[in-house]
Amino acid sequence: MTANAPTLQCDYVVLGGGSGGIASARRAAQYGARVVLIEPARLGGTCVNVGCVPKKLMWHAAQIAGTLAEAEGYGFAIGPNSHDWPRLVERREAYVRRLNGIYRDGLNKDRVQVLEGFGRLLPDGTVACGETRIAARHVLIATGGRPQRPTVPGAELGIDSNGFFALAERPASVVVVGGGYIAVELAGVLRALGSAVTLIVRGERLLGSFDSMLGDELRAAFDHHGVKLRLGSQIAAIERADAGLRIRLDDGQLLHGDSLIWATGRQANTAGLGLVEAGIALDRMGHVVVDEWQDTTRPNVHAVGDVCGRVALTPVAIAAGRRLSDRLFGGKADRKLDYSNVPSVVFSHPPIGSVGISEAQAIERHGTEAVKVYRTRFKALYYGLLEVKQDTAMKLVCVGPEERVVGVHVIGAGADEMLQGFAVAVRMGATKRDFDDTVAIHPTSAEELVTMR
Ligand SMILES: Cc1cc2nc3c(=O)[nH]c(=O)nc-3n(C[C@H](O)[C@H](O)[C@H](O)COP(=O)(O)OP(=O)(O)OC[C@H]3O[C@@H](n4cnc5c(N)ncnc54)[C@H](O)[C@@H]3O)c2cc1C
Repeated sequence: MTANAPTLQCDYVVLGGGSGGIASARRAAQYGARVVLIEPARLGGTCVNVGCVPKKLMWHAAQIAGTLAEAEGYGFAIGPNSHDWPRLVERREAYVRRLNGIYRDGLNKDRVQVLEGFGRLLPDGTVACGETRIAARHVLIATGGRPQRPTVPGAELGIDSNGFFALAERPASVVVVGGGYIAVELAGVLRALGSAVTLIVRGERLLGSFDSMLGDELRAAFDHHGVKLRLGSQIAAIERADAGLRIRLDDGQLLHGDSLIWATGRQANTAGLGLVEAGIALDRMGHVVVDEWQDTTRPNVHAVGDVCGRVALTPVAIAAGRRLSDRLFGGKADRKLDYSNVPSVVFSHPPIGSVGISEAQAIERHGTEAVKVYRTRFKALYYGLLEVKQDTAMKLVCVGPEERVVGVHVIGAGADEMLQGFAVAVRMGATKRDFDDTVAIHPTSAEELVTMR
């Protein structure tokens, strides 16, 4: 940086134009703060460009493939159909570009100044972006994360979730590696659109951080859809083969695939940010350490979103970012995010919705005696006219004599749109009796949640 580099003075400088950064920047500006936001890539971050949004569009395409296959049962004569992957990708990317523009307009409307480039914290507490230096009352680190992959020989021959969204053609055969939500989602989409899919999972269970019922049911659904599953298995090495890749597992078995997708977790974008030099503590995984107020170990430097490594979901980053600005610039001294009871959905086939704690967590916290679990399993009415049917499974986890509902877990068609309202109930401390006293909506799958015995 040259000695006479310009210094911008402002109230708030935000590093990262993703979900958390944009939400916090705009909220601060709406309170009248002068805000500078720094972003090196496309506005919207992971969620908009290589995460939730393009992923959900791909999931919709996969759902349509399923509906086409089932339409005959409802009297439709569907002839041979084909799917044009490049056209889907082109339309999806055009939509994402529109969203990039909408984010830009929103920031302009709130008079947030956007600088293109990488932000870096300097030891004196100012921020550098290229030749520009920014001095602000508060700094926000909202730089998110990126995919990580293991260090096995040939790992670079695979792609990650970013690479999945860059696929110009659908691979005929794919090996997906990972047992978390991104792995199962990508495996499901590719299978539904016609790829042969093998899913390699290091552990013995899918979706290990969720209630075990969900992973077990999903495993059955994968069998049903023809996703080949290898649990307790790891990749030892990958080599280029005449066509595609030759993949060696740790037990010596060989697999072949046109493509391999690593969905083996994400790491925080903290490297090169000057954080440690500026006195900001990182945990051993490289996440920024924050307290309940999103404050780092350096005064007036805050962090939100995936870079903190706690509940890495878009609405969490947004909520934490907005509450932080409410507190710093809106005079709301007690605003902070409660990270408990965050609902989430896995866009698998069928989808999964979950809020609260699992049965195992409830037993660990409250003891076996205090926990009562209600379960149901049924075939949704939709499948009444179809030969091939899919189960829906639900579980309510309740604790104490009043049977407070502390967990709601659902896998089945419609679960993705079912859980938001139940999350309100769980957050409010609803009991099983409240569920029972709620009149059902008939005929739906959701009604089973208020009629369990
Ligand atoms: C495949 C996939 C699917 C997902 N699906 C869902 C879903 O369905 N629902 C859900 O809630 N969440 C989902 N997520 C997670 C969600 O995308 C993230 O939790 C969310 O984007 C986190 O927001 P953030 O602001 O913390 O980080 P990000 O959105 O990652 O934004 C960080 C930004 O910081 C920028 N940046 C990096 N370094 C610097 C620097 N030095 N200076 C300035 N800027 C920098 C980056 O370019 C990026 O734009 C998904 C993620 C993936 C990968």
